[in-house]
Amino acid sequence: MGTSLLHIDLSALVANWRALDAVSGGSVETAAVVKADGYGTGAERAGRALFNAGVRTFFVAAVEEGVALRAALGPEPVINVFGGHMAGDQDMIADMALVPMLNSVEQITRHFEALPGKPFGIQLDSGMNRLGLEPVEWDAVRDIVVSAGPTLVMSHLACADEPDHPMNARQLTAFRAMTDGLPLRRSFAATGGILLGPEYHFDLTRPGIGLYGGLPYSDARPVVRLECPVIQIRDVAEGESVGYGNSWVAQSPSRIATIAAGYADGITRHISNAGTLFDGDTPCPLVGRVSMDLITVDVTHLPHAPKTLDLLCAHQRVDDLAEVGGTIGYEILTSLGHRYQRQYKA
Ligand SMILES: *Cc1c(COP(=O)(O)O)cnc(C)c1O
Repeated sequence: MGTSLLHIDLSALVANWRALDAVSGGSVETAAVVKADGYGTGAERAGRALFNAGVRTFFVAAVEEGVALRAALGPEPVINVFGGHMAGDQDMIADMALVPMLNSVEQITRHFEALPGKPFGIQLDSGMNRLGLEPVEWDAVRDIVVSAGPTLVMSHLACADEPDHPMNARQLTAFRAMTDGLPLRRSFAATGGILLGPEYHFDLTRPGIGLYGGLPYSDARPVVRLECPVIQIRDVAEGESVGYGNSWVAQSPSRIATIAAGYADGITRHISNAGTLFDGDTPCPLVGRVSMDLITVDVTHLPHAPKTLDLLCAHQRVDDLAEVGGTIGYEILTSLGHRYQRQYKA
């Protein structure tokens, strides 16, 4: 095995969706967010597994992702595009039956002119100031938009991973002020919002990270395991250094395994001299700096020469690794490089 293997457990993915669907409640549709290539797991395979499990609405970030997903899933599911209708997108939106979530008066105008009568949703800004119409803009276009019959009106929470943050209630109030009493299908909650409780669920929830085993959904089953091949094992004497910058020096005679994976594969340099790899259940400290294609690991304490070591596994989940690397599970997952071979388990 020359390249690292990213094992993807599709049954765990489906189980996480079912569990978040159960929390969302019986009258609420639970969609699935598969942007950024299904958070690094492969949008087409992840999408197909979720479709077979009953997901009928998907979200992607950009129309190009929607085109690939449509080809993988066929005509049945709804595919919504968070980025909306950008200039030049009209043929892809029409040909692939994508539904843009229109984010501005400019996008609404573009969509109504280029594709009159074609489905669209609306994204409202309830305080995050990232995407969506502001309340004054919504006031100006609301009647026209509502009479054109959007498929969905959505907004996004900035602090949903912190249940006690006052921003959550503030955004909920803002979203309701913009949408209460109107004949609209509404969506507000991603993974964090689902966990905040039923008043955040509205008609459709749209989890992403929780499906893939990441926080804030702490009950999620792990979906990915990253198994890295050992290229070489060497003995180093007390006082010898390992890797760039001599940042690690053996305090006693040691065995060092060199792994074929590095920062060019999406493994952050910030875990240099701090990360851990696993031989089955046994932790092995990462020593020295992460190189472009290589990592060095202290395996002195192992009774055998390992053929592979795991960087992600049940003992070290995406958020554990994120903590060591000073980032978040989302970034760990989405930076898993295309140099890995993906291996799917049904
Ligand atoms: C990414 C995203 C989601 C999914 O969020 P998670 O935190 O991964 O569940 C939902 N809605 C919008 C607008 C997003 O950008």
